[in-house]
Amino acid sequence: MDEAPQLLAERIRHVARSMPTAVGGGLIVGALTVSTLWSLTPHRWLYAWSVILVACAGARLRLYATGRNVSAETADALPRWLWRMRLMSLFSGMTWGTVALFSTPQNDARLAFLAYVIAGISAAAATALAADRQAARLFQWTAIAPLMLRLALVGGPYHLPMALMGLMYAAYLTVAAGRSHRQFDETTALRIEAMRQERELRGNERRYRDLAHSDPLTALPNRLALHARLPAMLSLAARSRRSLALLYIDLDNFKDINDTHGHRFGDQVLIETSERLRRCIAADDLVVRMGGDEFLVVRVASRTRDEVEAVARRIGAELAPPMLLDGQNSLVHASIGIALYPDDGTDAELLMRGADLALYEAKARGRNGYQFFRAEMSRRVEGRVFIAQALRDAIDSSQIFMEYQPLVDLASGRVISLEALMRWHHPERGLIAPDEFIPVAEQSGYIDALGEQAIRLVCRQLQLWRGDFVPLVPIAINVSPRQLERRGFVERLTRIAADYDIDPALLCVEITESALMAHGDASKEAVIALRRLGVKVAIDDFGTGYCHLAYLKRLPIDCLKIDRSFVRDLESDARDNTLLGAIMAIGRSFSISVVAEGVETARQVELLRALGCECGQGYHFHRPAGESRTRELLEREAGRPLATETFRLRALKWRGAALS
Ligand code: C2E
Ligand code: MG
Ligand code: MG
Repeated sequence: MDEAPQLLAERIRHVARSMPTAVGGGLIVGALTVSTLWSLTPHRWLYAWSVILVACAGARLRLYATGRNVSAETADALPRWLWRMRLMSLFSGMTWGTVALFSTPQNDARLAFLAYVIAGISAAAATALAADRQAARLFQWTAIAPLMLRLALVGGPYHLPMALMGLMYAAYLTVAAGRSHRQFDETTALRIEAMRQERELRGNERRYRDLAHSDPLTALPNRLALHARLPAMLSLAARSRRSLALLYIDLDNFKDINDTHGHRFGDQVLIETSERLRRCIAADDLVVRMGGDEFLVVRVASRTRDEVEAVARRIGAELAPPMLLDGQNSLVHASIGIALYPDDGTDAELLMRGADLALYEAKARGRNGYQFFRAEMSRRVEGRVFIAQALRDAIDSSQIFMEYQPLVDLASGRVISLEALMRWHHPERGLIAPDEFIPVAEQSGYIDALGEQAIRLVCRQLQLWRGDFVPLVPIAINVSPRQLERRGFVERLTRIAADYDIDPALLCVEITESALMAHGDASKEAVIALRRLGVKVAIDDFGTGYCHLAYLKRLPIDCLKIDRSFVRDLESDARDNTLLGAIMAIGRSFSISVVAEGVETARQVELLRALGCECGQGYHFHRPAGESRTRELLEREAGRPLATETFRLRALKWRGAALS
């Protein structure tokens, strides 16, 4: 609950309670002063003035005396000041009283009046500062006593009631002062203590907030701080009609850095990254560590997209130089997603989401770049959410099935193996492409189940064909890096093959080149285990993932599948020709067979043959097809005479157990 209204209500109640005594005390002092002045001067207009003034002063005195208006800052100084204030009150009261006592009609009455006012104000000020009831009483008592004396001595009989009233009031003050003295000192002490505690609490609160709002590793503000500050930055931008840019930054290869160099080194990379990011921003901007390897820069007053683009490029350039940490060099790249206020949203949540979506797009587009948020990104995400939900029901159902695309010998055109390609037939949306649902499955964690289903479907197919005496060829299964990385993958594959009584030599596993690079060690172990089992291993989409040649030397790989982007431009681009020639040479020198993917024309076949490529896969030969058409194809193939003796030997090698 909010404390402010409560405090205010308490204050009002308190003032209301003190009002009667305040007004009463003020009136009594005022009346006494008037009486005294009556005996001093014939200028009657002064009476009215003095009644009002002194009554007010008296009332204020009483209010302050009982009030609590001491700020937390003066609380510490209060005990020191208390006695000084009381002495001052005593002195002021005595001054007033003395003037009253000794002024005569011969003195200037106005001077006397001035003395009263000055003494009254100083007493009021003193009491107000001290907020001390004791000081107020001292003042009133010392002021009243001489007034009464004066009235008694010179006032004559008609002043007697006034003098009596003053006497009673003085007596009340004395008794009340005595009664409340100890209690008051105690309450003052308590009040001071309460104030000190409150101040300490505020300090602790501030310290806690600072701690809770800052990232201990990089000392940058954290996500909590962003949530606290971003709305304020946005409303400031709205008021000053400025724009604002959110740059969501994610390091591309941080997991690899952590995996290869250890977490301590990873921490240092994060610290260095935060330093470099700090260098890229202006004083009004904000850099936040969102957690892990994610950072966010809030750039104030960026008017144009070009300006924001320049910031994104600057961040990229600042992070680009190698980081020399602990004597080791480390290269860090970042992807950046950008959302702009007010174009992409006016509230913090919408902007964060926009920047996040743009970051996702930047990552998907090959990392180490930046992307501005666009509306269709939201639609794409909605599509992904739909897929993730529908996938749960699709796994292990007949919605998922396999198509098979043959790999052919370029010299003879004969089928030497098949690649199994997953298909998903959604009851409402129809056929969904693997490029659309495999990445979602990888992200949502369904890839393990889906991958296992692929292996099971392929093994079951082989079992069925074998039962029907269809001549078998090895079938390649695409395996996602996440699957391969997972502990026990090879064991699960062995178990499934055993369940269907399938010779592992009839299976081939396709791993994408980028996966092999990103998940080096885990993949390496799996590849070795697979080969030991007799399963063949192919590197898929070769040429797109910057594979180190050292990997080819170290890993027992059977086949390189050249990405179709190289084959596509083979006819027009001489560089692709040279590059493919180099890949063939690499294949030959490491004794790895090379397959060209995406062969679509006869001319491409010719060129590939000229380059020494032995195998191809693509629409030019066969499109991926379902179970029955593939069965027909395999049966047709087996009936055809073999073209050459060399090919017969190669085919025997590939078909392995199936033909023997
Ligand atoms: P990929 O492994 O490189 O598979 C080859 C893709 O190229 C297939 O697309 C195939 O239909 C297509 N293709 C074959 N010949 C041609 C051609 O001449 N021209 C063109 N333009 N395309 C051709 P698809 O079936 O859409 O699969 C796409 C990707 O999805 C695959 O690329 C693979 O990475 C992934 N994928 C497919 N099935 C599975 C699976 O069971 N598990 C996993 N993890 N990934 C899979
Ligand atoms: Mg493949
Ligand atoms: Mg491929």
